[in-house]
Amino acid sequence: MTEHVLQMDDVTKTFGSGRTEVRALKKTSLDVNRGEVIAIIGPSGSGKSTLLTIAGGLQGPTGGEVRIAGERITELGEKDRSKVRLEHVGFILQSSNLVPFLTVSDQLKLLDKVKKGNMKKDERDGLLEELGITKLAKKYPNDLSGGERQRVAIAKALYSNPSLLLADEPTASLDSDRAFEVMKLLKSAAVKKNAATIVVTHDTRLTDYVDKVYKMVDGVLHLEADKGGAEPLEEGRTDFLEKGGNEDGI
Ligand code: ADP
Ligand code: MG
Repeated sequence: MTEHVLQMDDVTKTFGSGRTEVRALKKTSLDVNRGEVIAIIGPSGSGKSTLLTIAGGLQGPTGGEVRIAGERITELGEKDRSKVRLEHVGFILQSSNLVPFLTVSDQLKLLDKVKKGNMKKDERDGLLEELGITKLAKKYPNDLSGGERQRVAIAKALYSNPSLLLADEPTASLDSDRAFEVMKLLKSAAVKKNAATIVVTHDTRLTDYVDKVYKMVDGVLHLEADKGGAEPLEEGRTDFLEKGGNEDGI
């Protein structure tokens, strides 16, 4: 069993060339362990989304190596890479990952068709309840507010029990109480499911529930705070989460 769910070694990303060259990511190394939640803060345009999408294999780096659950995804072709993504990675991206022509409940059912090891019914119901979206099951993404869509996107990402959860500003359209609840939920899920989670946020108040805080400035990642284990979580609202890691036992 590998401790690290995500390993990034000397990863770089350059867009364009010559006068239009942008070095979005300078040599970056980052490991995230099972059960760990890390936050990445930093100004707009500093490279946070680039890092996150490379971490999840949505785009390739210019240089360096990325391993997810021990698999060197940088050496895989697109087909194998998408298999690793489906099996191991959950995304909560800024552009909503919802399918416009499916209801909320059908978004989850679709995952059951393509992948095993998703949440069972009780756990799913608990998750929807915790996120306050139980009543939205029959609605389509277009009928939802920005905050509701964001919470459905969170539910969809957690539903598949990913080993690696990548969230880009997951609480941007939520009020602060709700945003705190979501951060707690992400931490509980990481601990109970043995998953690694990266949360990009500009909201430094949300970093109480994370284990490490990194700051991205001009494509360079700095460790700002290592809390050696985040705030212990009181049992309670996230009890519905069942223990268990990824079926593959990575
Ligand atoms: P952040 O998420 O921190 O706001 P990004 O990772 O989106 O930053 O962008 C980092 C830099 O890379 C920016 O200068 C941005 O314009 C540039 N960039 C990002 N994606 C692309 C792309 N597909 N093509 C060209 N430049 C890009
Ligand atoms: Mg971004």
